[in-house]
Amino acid sequence: MSAAGECLVPPPPVPWVAVRGGGRYPVRRIYCVGRNYAEHIREMGGDEREPPFFFQKPADALVADGAQVPYPALTADFQHEVELVLAIGRGGSDIARERAHEHVVALAVGVDLTRRDLQVAARKAGRPWETGKSFDHSAPCAELVPTQGRALPAAGRIGLRVNGQVRQDADLSQMIWSAEEIVTQLSCQYRLEPGDLIYTGTPAGVGPLVRGDRVDAFCEGVGCLSIHIVG
Ligand code: MN
Repeated sequence: MSAAGECLVPPPPVPWVAVRGGGRYPVRRIYCVGRNYAEHIREMGGDEREPPFFFQKPADALVADGAQVPYPALTADFQHEVELVLAIGRGGSDIARERAHEHVVALAVGVDLTRRDLQVAARKAGRPWETGKSFDHSAPCAELVPTQGRALPAAGRIGLRVNGQVRQDADLSQMIWSAEEIVTQLSCQYRLEPGDLIYTGTPAGVGPLVRGDRVDAFCEGVGCLSIHIVG
């Protein structure tokens, strides 16, 4: 047995998302856009003229459609953020805006689950956002829909209901930075690779979840996602 052949612990499984029509999309990284809808920036007390910024969630924070999400520890303000998710199919750096769609292989609707109280406390203290954003089970993502080379959506209704009540109801046309512009900007910061998911930011209407809630997210032409909050 070669020295390189032995793993000290069993290799962790590669997280994946189901693909409509069959198959799996193995996930390498999850990037998220911090601010991308003016109304949401205003409800959070931010400056909508600032350029977007990115943070990450661990790939194993993924949650599949229909799953039960345990109410997380350490928070009294666990919130939903519905978002369009892009799946990178071809890697690249400094990707031109006109070519961005060629690097996206599929789309989905996702929810950026957030421990808002911890995120706000970190922001005030000038600390990283990880405790507020990058915890276990924080990245629900519906099945991926292949783009088949088509342009990325510039419009389409996106929203979220909690126990049947509308909480978020917006349109992708309200994004400050388009899906193409997000791919371009992110690819100037990190080389993108197949397996990278990008959550593109949430519209206004974010709010708290409690144990027992049923969450239904949708994005027109992309799909639906349901999760249950348990614990
Ligand atoms: Mn978000």
